[in-house]
Amino acid sequence: KTFSDLGLIEQLCEACEQLSYKKPTPIQAQAIPLALQGRDIIGLAETGSGKTAAFVLPILQALMEKQQVLHSLILAPTRELAYQIGENIQALGAFIGVRKAVLVGGMDMMPQAIALGKKPHIIVATPGRLLDHLENTKGFSLRQLKYLIMDEADRLLDLDFGPILEKILKNIPKEGRKTYLFSATMSSKVESLQRASLSNPVRVSV
Ligand code: AMP
Repeated sequence: KTFSDLGLIEQLCEACEQLSYKKPTPIQAQAIPLALQGRDIIGLAETGSGKTAAFVLPILQALMEKQQVLHSLILAPTRELAYQIGENIQALGAFIGVRKAVLVGGMDMMPQAIALGKKPHIIVATPGRLLDHLENTKGFSLRQLKYLIMDEADRLLDLDFGPILEKILKNIPKEGRKTYLFSATMSSKVESLQRASLSNPVRVSV
């Protein structure tokens, strides 16, 4: 199967080609068609499987269909992962002019607040810093959010982000929102996060 067979538009297939992605990885082949059908997804996949593109490509396609700022939020457990996802978005979105902001701890709030003021389409964040902005950055809200992605959910919960995630979820619309949860392992904590945040999800694993 090709990226085009999965239902992806030409600009995104071209971006994959530019990155020398010859064909979809198994997690991409399974998750992307379901995502394009509008399903919530639980993806059991490790780093290295191509899971990032599996959730970034459908978000970008949704943005192409309907441009909107503050459209998607991707939560990641660490700064490094957040930056990596940000780079992936930049590369895969090369042909569609997407604006993203990366919000991570250990950096000044102000440049991040300025980036938010420019109304990005996609936000990639670690949970603590995102909550900090929700509480302290004037004019910033996630009321319009259409997509929530929790990457490496097992690690998100390991780091005791649980109570923070709960507060973030309260700031995000449930109605009309799509949610993807990716995790290397399933634990009872991940399952309760899943029950609290996904609706009628389909599970894919590699
Ligand atoms: P990830 O699991 O998302 O961290 O991706 C692991 C690595 O595989 C990254 O360097 C990606 O750029 C790369 N990658 C993702 N999808 C593909 C693909 N379909 N073909 C080749 N490489 C890929």
